[in-house]
Amino acid sequence: MADQKVYDMLIIGGGPAGAAAALYGARAGLSVLVIERMMLGGEITSTAWFDNYPGFPDGVGGPEFGALLEKQLANLEVPVHYGDIEKVELQGEQKKVFCSNGEFEGKTVLIATGTLPNLLGVDGELELRGRGVSYCATCDAAFFRGKKIVVVGGGDAALEETVFLSRFAEKIFLIHRRDKFRGCSWLQDKVQKLPMVEVLWNTTVSRIVGDNKVVSLQIVQDGKERTLAVDGIFIYTGRQPNAPFLEGIELERNERGYILANEKMETSIKGVFAAGDVRQKFLRQVITAAADGAIAATAASQYLYTY
Ligand code: NAP
Repeated sequence: MADQKVYDMLIIGGGPAGAAAALYGARAGLSVLVIERMMLGGEITSTAWFDNYPGFPDGVGGPEFGALLEKQLANLEVPVHYGDIEKVELQGEQKKVFCSNGEFEGKTVLIATGTLPNLLGVDGELELRGRGVSYCATCDAAFFRGKKIVVVGGGDAALEETVFLSRFAEKIFLIHRRDKFRGCSWLQDKVQKLPMVEVLWNTTVSRIVGDNKVVSLQIVQDGKERTLAVDGIFIYTGRQPNAPFLEGIELERNERGYILANEKMETSIKGVFAAGDVRQKFLRQVITAAADGAIAATAASQYLYTY
């Protein structure tokens, strides 16, 4: 089904970056369409709680924040199309976005598709995904009430989700490949005060074992291999840009695939903008994603004056 309308701005991704762009775009009088794969709010909706966004003195739940974004876009009557992007054509004055269930044209395109979790890449990971292997504590923590689990990683996500999982699990082994966390010091302090958390430094997971569900892990600690009996494993080993539809498109990206954009969120293709975690940037947070979106929509609005 091809939409006949040519939008001023097609926004791919309905997380904080895309939602802020839609808000600024709509308020600037642009016709905008948000194209979203699953639900508005993006990655933050899979975080139980965050308390580093101004204006929420007691913090806010990720799902609640997503619902607020949805309400805000609905109040502004911003249309949202739900579908998976299969292909994009970004060159020229009229850009095209092809979804599994629709085709759309826009004078500008904003890519705000965020990131995806990195896989650990060990035997058993894919086979036992959803059967004890998880990348989302908010989604799956309740299945591990009173159980023994592992969290892998040493960044903010691993630390933050360990704190959340401590409300459910009886025992958490936090496995990190080095002897120092990468995550911020206040999260480290929080984790270190949790009695059920045992940090296994200089440790890696070499195999996830189980037939129908996870029963144990093979781990290598200080060069020695051993079995660790656990019911589940939460993997937080970083993320990668989520833009498979850019495969084969000449859009400048860095060596890890993050889109290069300037201060106005302009990419190497005229009329194409990038905002939020999918672009190369210093700080990947909700607040910086929202700021990127606001800037991108304002820059797109300026670009359209001379269109
Ligand atoms: P990250 O900061 O890149 O940390 C990934 C962690 O996984 C690192 O400790 C890394 O180890 C480890 N790792 C990577 N590959 C591994 C492998 N193959 N095997 C074992 N360990 C591996 O990623 P993140 O924690 O997902 O955070 C991503 C961004 O989001 C960061 O900028 C972070 O600040 C932000 N974030 C912020 C908050 C918050 O402010 N509340 C919450 C979550 C995320 P090394 O340390 O040895 O490299």
